[in-house]
Amino acid sequence: MGGTVQEVLQRRGSKKGSGIRVRRTLKRILISSPLVFLYLGILFSSPSIKQSRFYVPAVYFWFFLSLSSMAFYLYLCFLRREKRYLRKVGDGYVVQTLDTGPKDEREKRYLFEALLSCLFFTAGIIQALDLAWLHILFIPLLSALSLVYGWKIMIPLSLAVPALEIRHFLYGDRLEEGVFNGSVVLIAAIVSLGVTRIKNERNNLKKNLETLKVEVEDIDSGADADIIRGDNLISQHLSSTKKANEELQELLSIAKHALSAEAVSLFDLRGNRLTLRCSTDGSQGSLPDERMLALCARRKASVIFDASSGAEGREAIHMLTPVADGKLIAGVLTARKNRISGDGNFDVQTLEMFSRQIMKILHNQRVYSQINKEHAGLKILHKGGSSLTTSLKTKDIAQRIMEAAHEIAPLSIALFMPKGEHFELICEIGFDLCERIFDFGDTRIGVVSSGTEPHYLSDLKVEMKDERIPVFPFKTDDDGSAFMLPLSYEREPLGILVLFSQKRNALSSYQIELLELLGNQASSSLANAKFHAEIESMAVTDGLTGLFNHRNFQEKLSNEFNRMQRIPDPLSLLLIDIDFFKKVNDTYGHPAGDEVLRGVAGVIRETIRNVDIPARYGGEEFAAILPGTNHEGAQKMAERLRNAIAGKVFTIDGKELRVTVSIGAATSPHDTGNRDELIEKTDQALYHAKRNGRNRCVLWREIREK
Ligand code: GH3
Ligand code: MG
Ligand code: MG
Repeated sequence: MGGTVQEVLQRRGSKKGSGIRVRRTLKRILISSPLVFLYLGILFSSPSIKQSRFYVPAVYFWFFLSLSSMAFYLYLCFLRREKRYLRKVGDGYVVQTLDTGPKDEREKRYLFEALLSCLFFTAGIIQALDLAWLHILFIPLLSALSLVYGWKIMIPLSLAVPALEIRHFLYGDRLEEGVFNGSVVLIAAIVSLGVTRIKNERNNLKKNLETLKVEVEDIDSGADADIIRGDNLISQHLSSTKKANEELQELLSIAKHALSAEAVSLFDLRGNRLTLRCSTDGSQGSLPDERMLALCARRKASVIFDASSGAEGREAIHMLTPVADGKLIAGVLTARKNRISGDGNFDVQTLEMFSRQIMKILHNQRVYSQINKEHAGLKILHKGGSSLTTSLKTKDIAQRIMEAAHEIAPLSIALFMPKGEHFELICEIGFDLCERIFDFGDTRIGVVSSGTEPHYLSDLKVEMKDERIPVFPFKTDDDGSAFMLPLSYEREPLGILVLFSQKRNALSSYQIELLELLGNQASSSLANAKFHAEIESMAVTDGLTGLFNHRNFQEKLSNEFNRMQRIPDPLSLLLIDIDFFKKVNDTYGHPAGDEVLRGVAGVIRETIRNVDIPARYGGEEFAAILPGTNHEGAQKMAERLRNAIAGKVFTIDGKELRVTVSIGAATSPHDTGNRDELIEKTDQALYHAKRNGRNRCVLWREIREK
C-alpha cells in the first residue's frame, strides 16, 4: 500500500482533462464575439444618425448590443468573481468554489472585454452625436483607468483608440489624427507603466516585510528554549541571553556617546512587531512602530527630522538602521538626538557599524542557542534510542517510545498497534481513552496508518474544514494540531504514534525531524521484538498443533508446582491418548492422521478454561495442566473433553471419521505432592483406561482404591 497521504487524497479529487484549456479558449472567443460586431458597427458608422431608413434600426440595434454586452462583461468581471456551488459528498454537501485559480487572475478575467465595451460605447455615443472633437475625452478616460489598471491591460486598450479612429485617419487629416492617436497611446502607456512600477515597489516592500516575518520566526524558533526540554537548556539559554543583553547594553552606551545622542535603542523584530530589547533611556520618544517597520523594510539606514519630538522645542533627528545578517533582519537600531543649528551631519555610518557589531552578538547568541537545542535533541534521541535496544518486549519498547516522544514534544501522545483488522491502544499520555480497540476505517489516521509517511496537521480547524471524515475514531478537540507517525518495517505496518495538542502549530519543524528519527529507531526495535516473539513462540510451541510442546509442558508444570508452594491450591493433570490412532494412519494415510491431530488439539484448546495449559505430550498424546482443580473438577473436565472429541466429525476423502480418546487424571497434592510422581500416576491412570476398553476417563484415585 503506498503513496503519501497527499497522493491518496489527491486520487480522491477530480481529474482535470486536457481538453479543459481548449474549451476555455473556445468559450472566451465565443464570449468576446459581440465586441467584433460592435467594432464593425463603429467602423461602418452604424451609430451615427444619417437620413436613411436602414440607419435608424441599425443605431438602435448597435446601442442595444453595446449596452447589453457592457452589462454582461461588467457582470462577469466584477460581480461573478467566484462562483460557489454545493457538491454532494457522502450523505451531505460541501461548499465548493468553482474558480480555483489565484484570486488576482480571477479578478482580471474579462476585465479587458469589460473596459473595451465601455470604450466602444463611448465611441458610439461620440459618433452618434457627430461631435468629433469629443474624442479628446479618450485622453482623460484612459489616463484615469491607467491609475487603476496595469500596463498589460491599458496598452492594448489604448491601441483600440487608433483602431476606432482608422476611418478618420484614412479620410481625414492624417497628421492631426496621427498626433491625437499617438498621444492617447503614449499618455496611457506612460501613466500605466508609472503606476505599475509604483505598485510593484509597494508589493515588493510588502513581500519583504512578510519574508522578514518568516525569517525572524525562524530565528525565534532557534532560540526558543521551550521547544526541547533538555536538562540545562532553559538555564543555559537564559544565561546566554542575559550575557548577550549585558553586552548589548554596554554597546548602546558607547554608541550613545559616540553619536552624542540623547538615546540609543535596540528593537527586536518578531513577526511583524517590534519589541524593545534594550535602550539607554527606555526608548521614550522613538518613532511609531509602523514607521520604523516601513523604514526598516528599505533595508538601509534612514534619517528622519521630527520637529515635534525634540527637547526644548528643538527639532529631533531620528537615525534608524536595520540590524541585519545578510537577508535576515533581526531588529532595528535607533538613535535620537536634538538638532543643534548647523548640525546636519549625522554619522549614519557609525550607527551602521554599531548595528553590525550588534548583529555579531545576536548571531553568536543564536548559534549558541541553536547548538544547545541540537545538543539537547541529540541527547534525547541518544538516550531514547539506547533505551529502545535494552528490551525485546513490545510493551517495554512501546513505553520507551512514548517517554522519548514526550521528551521531544510534551503533548498528548498515544501509540496504537495493529491487531487483526483493528488497532490496539498500547499506551497513551493525556488522551484519557476508555476503549482499547479502535476501527481506523474512514478516518484520516486510517489513511496515514496504511502508508509510511508522517502526516502533520498544523491547524485542524483550517485543514479539516471541508473534510467529511474525522481525523481520529475517538473524540478530540476540533481545534489544535495533530501529528501522526506510522511505524513500519519493510512496509509492514507495526504501529502508529499520534501526538495531539489543543494549540495550533504545536510542533516545530525541528521537533518533527526528531520525532521522525525516533520513529525510525522505534520501528526497527519493534520489528526486532516481533521477530524475537515469533522465534520464542516457535521454540515453545508444537509446529503441527500450535499447542505447547513437551519441553514447555515440563517447564510449565514445574512453574505450577513452584506456585503451589506459595498458594496451596489443588492442581490436576490430564493425559489424553487417541484410541487406535495407528489405524487412522494405516487406513487414511499420515496426512489424514495429522489432520486428526490438529482437530483434536483444536477441540482441547476450545474446551478447557483460559487458565488451563494444553500441550502436545508426544505422538498422539496430549496433556492438560488444570491449575486450581481437584478430583471432581478433573473428572468433569476429562469427561467434557472425551465427549467433545468423540463428537467431532472429520471428513477425509469424502468419508466421515470420528475418533475417541482415553484420559488419565491425577491430582496434587492429594494423590502426590511430587511433580514427577504426578506425571507417572496420571500415566498409570491412562494405561488403566486403555486396558479397560478405551474411550473412558480414569482417575488415579479410582485405581488406588481398587
Ligand atoms: P492405542 O489405542 O493403544 O493408543 O492405539 P494407538 O494405535 O493409538 O497407539 P500406538 O502407540 O500403537 O500408535 C500411535 C501411532 O501414532 C503411531 C504413530 O505412527 C502415530 N503418530 C505418532 N505421531 C504422529 C504424527 O505426528 N502424525 C501422524 N499422522 N501419526 C503419528
Ligand atoms: Mg500413544
Ligand atoms: Mg493411541
